Amino acid sequence: MSRIFEITERVASYAPKADLDLINRAYVFAANAHAGQTRQSNDPYIVHPLAVAGILASLNMDEATIVTGLLHDTVEDTHVSLSDIEQHFGSDVAQLVDGVTKIGKIHFHSSEHKQAENFRKMLMATAKDVRVLIVKLADRLHNMRTLGFMSERKREAISTETIQIYAPLAHRLGIHWVRQEMEDLAFANLEKEAYKELLLQLQDRLEGLNQIRERLEVIIQEALQRQGLNAQVQGRMKHLYSIYDKMQRKHVDFDEIFDLVAFRVIVDDITTCYQTLGIIHSLYRPVPGRFKDYIALPKPNGYQSLHTAVIGPENFRIEVQIRTETMHSYAEDGVAAHWIYKEGESSPGERDNFKWLKQLTELLQETESPGEFLENVRLDLFVQEVYVFSPDGDIFALPRGARPLDFAYAVHTDIGHHCIGVRINGEMSDFSTRLHNGDQIEVMTSPDQMPSRQWLQYVKTPRARQSIRQWFRRQEKETSVRIGKQVLRDSLGKAGVSNQVLQRLNYDNMESLQEHLGRGDIPIQKLLDAADVDRSKPLNIRGITRTLMRAADCCHPIPGDPVLGIFSAGKGMIIHHRKCTNVAERKGENWLEVNWQAQPGELFKTGIEVRSHNERGMLARVSNSIADANASIDDLKLHQKGGSMTEMLFLIEVEDRKHLADVLRTIRGVPGVTRVQRRNQVGFTGQAASRGFAETLRDFFVGRQQGQKKSAQKKPDQGKTRKN
Ligand code: MN
Repeated sequence: MSRIFEITERVASYAPKADLDLINRAYVFAANAHAGQTRQSNDPYIVHPLAVAGILASLNMDEATIVTGLLHDTVEDTHVSLSDIEQHFGSDVAQLVDGVTKIGKIHFHSSEHKQAENFRKMLMATAKDVRVLIVKLADRLHNMRTLGFMSERKREAISTETIQIYAPLAHRLGIHWVRQEMEDLAFANLEKEAYKELLLQLQDRLEGLNQIRERLEVIIQEALQRQGLNAQVQGRMKHLYSIYDKMQRKHVDFDEIFDLVAFRVIVDDITTCYQTLGIIHSLYRPVPGRFKDYIALPKPNGYQSLHTAVIGPENFRIEVQIRTETMHSYAEDGVAAHWIYKEGESSPGERDNFKWLKQLTELLQETESPGEFLENVRLDLFVQEVYVFSPDGDIFALPRGARPLDFAYAVHTDIGHHCIGVRINGEMSDFSTRLHNGDQIEVMTSPDQMPSRQWLQYVKTPRARQSIRQWFRRQEKETSVRIGKQVLRDSLGKAGVSNQVLQRLNYDNMESLQEHLGRGDIPIQKLLDAADVDRSKPLNIRGITRTLMRAADCCHPIPGDPVLGIFSAGKGMIIHHRKCTNVAERKGENWLEVNWQAQPGELFKTGIEVRSHNERGMLARVSNSIADANASIDDLKLHQKGGSMTEMLFLIEVEDRKHLADVLRTIRGVPGVTRVQRRNQVGFTGQAASRGFAETLRDFFVGRQQGQKKSAQKKPDQGKTRKN
């Protein structure tokens, strides 16, 4: 089928109601789009889509699929756009062409078996519609047939990809002749010598095998005719690659392969299948253990047949498969065999895309173990994973919804820990981006990078989550041990810890004591008692990383403040202002002197109190002045003080005491402000955006809009007039 009228004739033969005009129009459209382009063979390009459509017609595909075969390279290789296709041929065809274009862009690099399996799954997930895969298989088959015009290197690459990806895919979909032809073509290109030798050996045997087939056919047909039944006997030579593969796998010679030919007996119905089996077994002695009833128990991919092996004429062992016509077409064409138009059915354009799939699914559900096949045939509907590439072409399967950090941790824990950014398909992306099938992901790392707790929001895989948590646990332990060492040095001095002290405190090793001491599990007094030392001065802890140090929410200390630290289980060390009410209330506890330093750029919350005259727009002016001093507002509260005065409490973020002083000075310059001061205990819990906050914020923005930049200098009611 290399001409358009041959294709339309063929389609008309199995689908009398098909829209042949649509197919003809697609042909003209594709021929115009590809006009002037040629294949490697110097043939006009249109030869290729035409051949693909021909293969699809031989698989009895519906007209949308045939049209897709004709158009499949237009979007990728010509000026035609997907919306052109949709406009001319409808959304069904457009979606199919889009699918074929998308999977055409995915290429397979690694030869690892597991990678190949993942890659096939990725193709299926990307294809979404089985018909896309079938078009892709037809495309690949024709490219394999015309491989001779390619360079040696390309031939090998394409053949390898075909044998590892597309042939197994055809097998999975049950389209066996496509699989076999692909494998033989790839075999001929990859193992030239072995291929030629095998071909010669097979030709020697062919004549004898043909005679056996003829004799068998006569004998079986006569036996069945006596019962008034019909049968057709075919002898199908095992394809070359599968013989070669078997010789390799089982380390046997050509002469030791018995099932070179499978004889197929095709009969009218299931009852006749069993009758035929009985006749064959009565004529020839069956080989024990070789009978298989795939009619009662179909294979996972839906295949049905009776299989047996007998010692045939001239003591030659032969394999026989018995099946009905329907089973046979399924065995040959797989899922494509189900794509059959039925008389009286509505026109294909109106049909549900997935009707065929549903029918197939239902059919398979009736069988015993639809398992693997069913799982794959539903394609992306049931694929719970996304498949993404590393820059080297390795494929990683991640759960749906996975994000860049999941990928980084899947590559290696250290890559995850030190990840500072990612490029997805060459573009910088942030950690919240969801990964899609076929994405290529490049992870950028820096030895200085460390995980942050925020990362936990952006990971989906348990592996990434656990790695991040583990990292924090390890950090905490290291920090605790370091603090513990300092506590010991500072409180016990040179004397250190004797084994006796360890025993008294119930620890069997030093590190464990240090860790628990550092976590605050052991009151310092208990340690001093155990070591018979009197405590003379407060402990002094220095050089702790910020990981485990946090400013308390009650008193909001900032760097430079006089502070004390205290351990809080699970939270690390909490830094309080020396004047915090908590310090006074919890006197008996282990408050530690600490040297608290900020990382550059780190911001700290602190409370300030502003009193002003009760004027409209006052809040906006104060808020603006805080922003002018480069601080941000995290939360705020308003208190009316007896009519004429307002008290505003802000929780702001600053770098340090100097920055805070700047902010306070700027606010003092706002007309109407009577008093500004820091107030540590403002009573904010750190949970911003309460309802009250949202309302006051609205006030803030309204004021800001009205007042513009110099709002602080404007009269309070000026804003109101502008608003009207
Ligand atoms: Mn193509």
